Amino acid sequence: MSSSPKTAVVIGSGFGGIALAIRLQSAGISTTILEARDKPGGRAYVYEDSGFTFDAGPTVITDPVSLEQLFSLSGRKLSDYVDLLPVAPFYRLCWEDGTHFDYADDQEELDRQIFALNPDDVAGYREFLKFSQAAFDQGYVKLGSTVFLSFRSMVQAGPQLLRLQAWKSVYSTVSRFIEDEHLRQLFSFHCLLVGGNPFETSSIYTLIHALERHGGVWFPRGGTGALVRAMLQLFKELGGTLKLNSPVERIELKGNRAVAVWTGGVQLPFDQVASNADVVHTYRNLLAGEARGIQETQRLQSKRFSMSLFVIHFGLKKEQPQLRHHVVCFGAGYRDLIHDIFHGHELPEDFSLYLHSPSVTDASLAPPGCSAHCVLAPVPHLGHAPVDWAVEGPKLRDRILAYLEERYIPGLRSDLLTCRIFTPADFRDELAAEHGSAFSLEPVLTQSAWFRPHNRDSVISNLYIVGAGTHPGAGIPGVVGSAKATAGLMLETLTETQ
Ligand SMILES: Cc1cc2nc3c(=O)[nH]c(=O)nc-3n(C[C@H](O)[C@H](O)[C@H](O)COP(=O)(O)OP(=O)(O)OC[C@H]3O[C@@H](n4cnc5c(N)ncnc54)[C@H](O)[C@@H]3O)c2cc1C
Repeated sequence: MSSSPKTAVVIGSGFGGIALAIRLQSAGISTTILEARDKPGGRAYVYEDSGFTFDAGPTVITDPVSLEQLFSLSGRKLSDYVDLLPVAPFYRLCWEDGTHFDYADDQEELDRQIFALNPDDVAGYREFLKFSQAAFDQGYVKLGSTVFLSFRSMVQAGPQLLRLQAWKSVYSTVSRFIEDEHLRQLFSFHCLLVGGNPFETSSIYTLIHALERHGGVWFPRGGTGALVRAMLQLFKELGGTLKLNSPVERIELKGNRAVAVWTGGVQLPFDQVASNADVVHTYRNLLAGEARGIQETQRLQSKRFSMSLFVIHFGLKKEQPQLRHHVVCFGAGYRDLIHDIFHGHELPEDFSLYLHSPSVTDASLAPPGCSAHCVLAPVPHLGHAPVDWAVEGPKLRDRILAYLEERYIPGLRSDLLTCRIFTPADFRDELAAEHGSAFSLEPVLTQSAWFRPHNRDSVISNLYIVGAGTHPGAGIPGVVGSAKATAGLMLETLTETQ
């Protein structure tokens, strides 16, 4: 029986890594986060250009309760660290035929807009909402932070999955309740936000709709970066250590135990190791030359990965009061475009966009009188569309900015003060993301729960995985849920050995 303080390292400072580190440190485990980049946050990195603040990644903040839990573990309150502002409407959805829909948490307003598109869908929507609520109860509340280490745990979840007809897709489930094609797109696009194809991702992912209706859509004052800073402030107050510019090169094993990590040629011993880095990178590079690393890399390489994203951050010298905070700009095609994004071998001609204009909610993100924006286009990952992004990136940027100028932001290009792009090649090179995927393994049923890489490695007894590549999957609520599941396993083992 040892009484020395237990130590843990978390490789990577994405939302999942930070949430895990907070849980461990709150339980008295001396925890260090090692982050490769110069700033924390992972996909939630922040750029500061010419007085504009741009969140690189997540901006739709849902399920604040899961974030509050991280603070209440040590008797603190999230609201003392960061201000979450409600976003209204949640999203505006726009189609090229001129239809638009303000999706908000207001039943009467929803009914009115649904009725205008198709009166029969008012009742259908209520049925869909019930289905989505059941998916939320089963898929998120019950199974979201369950640990699926054995096939038995998967079998136990079977009846719930059967009840939800989990083998059906999100789009076909929505279509059972709703007839109008605009509304089918509106209630099925959400799974794209966690890397899922609405035509192939399990109906369980309709839960995102209930998650938003119940928990709301929020935006941290100061941007998502302010939420990352709040979580890290908490972690440091608890006594945790964050080291930036510290890429881990190797996880050192002794038999089937991880004993240390190496960064900058220096060996750092720890009792437990958790990786928040890309799951393929973890096995292929950090366990290079180890039998377990080789075996798991081979297995993972045959998996399906989520699409990538092409991202433009831009600052304008004018405010844009005609916009809403989140605008989904559907392009000409939906089914065909999504097929090309997930299965095509080249960059599709067409695109659909998600336009983020945070200055609508928080003026502090741009200089006075100006506005900050980010636009995302889902694109194929590099594994099946090896696009030369150094050439195609600037061309796609110009096409997207011209499209936005024509339909959404008059005068965009002459008002441009700053502009930067982030391509699938950057996801691969900056974040070590397999195939430049934006969301890790694709969330299809055959890659979910027990079928997803487990929260604890099945051979290396003290190596853990946290983040988008493990259960339950991508998105902030997903990776924060994975941190809960992983922390449960780590703390169980650490307290057993004390
Ligand atoms: C553009 C974009 C928009 C999104 N929008 C939303 C949204 O609005 N709402 C939402 O909920 N979700 C959204 N998502 C999804 C969500 O951002 C991610 O699923 C989530 O943030 C991933 O967190 P993670 O814990 O898996 O870690 P990641 O963010 O992937 O971070 C992993 C970290 O590990 C580090 N790392 C890698 N290798 C090493 C190494 N060898 N040593 C040390 N560190 C290493 C990386 O540098 C990185 O910092 C979005 C994603 C993207 C890309």
